[in-house]
Amino acid sequence: MKIESISSLANILSNPIEYLKGVGPQKGDLLKKELNIYTFGDLLEHYPYRHIDRTRINLVSEISPQSDLPAGEAGFIQVAGVLVDLELIGQRSGRRLVGTLKDKSGFLELTWFQGIPWVQKLLEVGQSYLVYGRVSFYNGKPQIVHPEIEVLSAEQKPGKNFLEPVYPSTEKLKARGLGGRQIAKLTQVLMSLLREKDIPEILPEDILGPLKLIDRYRAFRQIHFPQFMSEYEEAVKRLKFEELFIAQLRMNLLRSNRHRFSKGVVFDKVGDLFNTFYKEHLPFTLTNAQKRVIKEIRSDTARGRQMNRLLQGDVGSGKTIVAVLIMLLALDNGFQACLMAPTEILARQHFQTISTLLEKMDVPVKLLTGSTKAAARKKIIKELEKGSLKILIGTHAVIEDVVQFNNLGIVIIDEQHRFGVAQRARLWQKSAIPPHVLVMTATPIPRTLAMTAYGDLDYSVIDEMPPGRKPIITVHRYEAHRSKVMDFLRDEIAKGRQVYIIFPLIEESAKLDYENLMKGYENVKAYFPEPKYWISMVHGRQPAAQKELNMKRFVEQDTQIMVSTTVIEVGVDIPNASVMVIESAEKFGLSQLHQLRGRVGRGTEKSYCILLTGSKLGNDARERIRTIVSTNNGFEIAEKDLELRGPGDIEGTRQSGVLNFKLASIVQDRPMLQLARNLVGQLLKNDPDLVSAENLQLKNFLNQQKGTVLWSKIS
Ligand code: ADP
Ligand code: MG
Repeated sequence: MKIESISSLANILSNPIEYLKGVGPQKGDLLKKELNIYTFGDLLEHYPYRHIDRTRINLVSEISPQSDLPAGEAGFIQVAGVLVDLELIGQRSGRRLVGTLKDKSGFLELTWFQGIPWVQKLLEVGQSYLVYGRVSFYNGKPQIVHPEIEVLSAEQKPGKNFLEPVYPSTEKLKARGLGGRQIAKLTQVLMSLLREKDIPEILPEDILGPLKLIDRYRAFRQIHFPQFMSEYEEAVKRLKFEELFIAQLRMNLLRSNRHRFSKGVVFDKVGDLFNTFYKEHLPFTLTNAQKRVIKEIRSDTARGRQMNRLLQGDVGSGKTIVAVLIMLLALDNGFQACLMAPTEILARQHFQTISTLLEKMDVPVKLLTGSTKAAARKKIIKELEKGSLKILIGTHAVIEDVVQFNNLGIVIIDEQHRFGVAQRARLWQKSAIPPHVLVMTATPIPRTLAMTAYGDLDYSVIDEMPPGRKPIITVHRYEAHRSKVMDFLRDEIAKGRQVYIIFPLIEESAKLDYENLMKGYENVKAYFPEPKYWISMVHGRQPAAQKELNMKRFVEQDTQIMVSTTVIEVGVDIPNASVMVIESAEKFGLSQLHQLRGRVGRGTEKSYCILLTGSKLGNDARERIRTIVSTNNGFEIAEKDLELRGPGDIEGTRQSGVLNFKLASIVQDRPMLQLARNLVGQLLKNDPDLVSAENLQLKNFLNQQKGTVLWSKIS
């Protein structure tokens, strides 16, 4: 357990945390489990969330429910006093430990629900303590639940001027004597061991200098133990920049290495199929955005490296036709193509659309899904292997191991930017040279975020709608106006339109949501009785066949109303359905509302989206509804979504990992992100392999990072 003996072997920062003085095996295990702190380095990067100014001690008399407490953060106070009472109150689950702290102005209650035995052992009536925490009021009396508490020692008596860091901790850790302040002590021990050589600079001087960023060693010191707040801010600025810079650099390296080293099949000629279709069978003129995207993809697939591209385009922007043209391009170059959709319904719809588009051309297209019969499946697999089947459309069934292609050139994945690395890897195995991959998504992601989260992919965007689209009229109505809304639906149905009524089913298995859906269905039925009206219902608990049947009846206009959960969210295209009612709209996220709305407005009729909500709305919900009502632009909505929720929750980015910044925020630090991106671009332009002396530390650093595979073959 001696640090000295280990530090000489390797970088001290990789030492296991239990070797730090004051930690040991037990606390070490807890730190690992609770805070993911495994090494000295992890502790170094466990940043304080605030600093306490020890000169600020509050009086109990200053606390009132209305008072703006002077402690800085709302509701947090620091009080010094004597513990005059400590009592165990209540039974079983209501059991709590209540202490009373007295200062010269009054009494403050301290309450513990957890870790009671430990607290009892620690505290002593009659002793002076320094207490810190958020004040709440219970029966009109101020109290702090689970305060940070420590003996008020002589040298800590008020008056000493320093900023003490407070660290994030957990209830479990607090109960074992590892609260925020104890972690501060460990950090102090760690800091006393670290020398400048242990934290060498990694960023080149010509980046640090102009930006006036402090060096790395100082930054780590100052983020933990600043003398003044300005020192803390300098440190945060430096480390934030580093986070953004490194993340961006890693992404760019992955991408540029793929560009340089990956082999890809070559689509270098535009042949008969593409040309004939383009000249004779294209049902409309392409938008400029569609043309641009096709060009981007063509040049990317022509140069002998593997394409890995994200194609983003709002609902209805016309991604399908792009997919068709690119598949024909593959065929023209002698390859097979495959289009994969997330659901059976969507796969089937694509199959129909694409078969119809290619009707007059001699191109074999087939559909493969989970419900394809064994005999048909066998035949498809055989034809694929032979190479006589050129285009395969399907669900995940197409990536099963039994499905082998003769020479697969491209895989297009629709509406599923979450298609993970592991799944992509399965595709590679389908041919010696990995096929190109095009992932299409309508989930709007702000550009900055896309570039960061998917920086390893190339990126195309259709930012223009086909002409003549009528905007969808979106309104917000309260539950109280339900019957008026239903009257409106009746009128629209009388005109021959169809309507969607969507219920939230956040988790498909949630019993309560399910019951609500059923109640909702009965309710709709009461307004729209058979035999004048017919209703389809689709939800996640139905067997696939039943779902299909209900969907089919709606598509064929057998039913006028579709009651559904969000299972119809993606891709479904029914032009005659022109009204969408979203029940409990306040429960949906912005991007989900936008996706849902995209199901209407696909035909020539005027379309409507009606957001029904209860009368009481929280601020965020109100803002979401306001946003959806005020704009149809998916990118504007995405920006708002990012602003309201932060990047961690944006659909599809959660597992990307790149966004788990400790300090930086993609929303607030956007200018810095942009700057980092530009500088990374410059750096790699001058030194793509990071071989120059000034970039050596940077390269070493990247190579040491967990989970970074940079210099080996990637794809
Ligand atoms: P999404 O991007 O949501 O997948 P689709 O490819 O389903 O959009 O296209 C939506 C609708 O717009 C389809 O009915 C399609 O035929 C039509 N469309 C696509 N591109 C154009 C265009 N350039 N001009 C006119 N209509 C178009
Ligand atoms: Mg689509």
